[in-house]
Amino acid sequence: MWTWSREPRGMRIGDWLGTRCVWCGALDDTGHGLCGGCRRDLPPVVDPCPRCAEPGVGTSCARCRARAPRFDAIVCAYHYGGGAAELVQRLKFSADLAAARALGHGLALAAARLVWDAAPCVVAMPAHWTRLLRRGFNPAAEIARWVARERAWPVDGRLLRRRRGGPAQSSAADEAARRRNVRGAFVAARRRQVPAHVALVDDVVTTGATVDAAARALHSVGVRRVTVLAATRAGRGQ
Ligand SMILES: [Zn+2]
Ligand SMILES: [Zn+2]
Repeated sequence: MWTWSREPRGMRIGDWLGTRCVWCGALDDTGHGLCGGCRRDLPPVVDPCPRCAEPGVGTSCARCRARAPRFDAIVCAYHYGGGAAELVQRLKFSADLAAARALGHGLALAAARLVWDAAPCVVAMPAHWTRLLRRGFNPAAEIARWVARERAWPVDGRLLRRRRGGPAQSSAADEAARRRNVRGAFVAARRRQVPAHVALVDDVVTTGATVDAAARALHSVGVRRVTVLAATRAGRGQ
């Protein structure tokens, strides 16, 4: 059986109050944090690699041709730029949880375009405990919470753990360095029963090295499929 994460299960007070667009302040009748107009302004991922969603490639990127990612598929809601990048930054650095709802809704919409045989188990990319302590919350988990709620999928907040902090990915520009940073950084719980299919949620996927390492850890304990759900996808050099 999956265990539910420690994130609150019920509605928070802020959930009821969030009837204004986080962006323009207009009344948001969708109840998803962004009014329709502002949501349409968020940039899509253009010409993604079909395997890793690297933007602007249009065909399999060189990296995927050299070595296929460990995850089975990737779904991205937005390109990491413009309003989408600002939403991520508001969530991460200003603890703006309304931004998590806006991103989570976009991700739930993107996930709905995929055919799912059965409900996957939602797992957020874990943060190292020191960062959790500093920030007080895990941005990916806040987004995952909304995706799970909207899709009515179960959440597992204990399957995957980050055991090494390492430097922030955004500071490791060189790709080899990124891979070294995340190698062995994740550990999945060994259980008699693990979900067959995990939907792995992250706020920003840049090279895919981090979600790749997490997918490897999940496969190692018997998870058969890992579909990455990225609220935003950054390109190289972003
Ligand atoms: Zn708006
Ligand atoms: Zn690729």
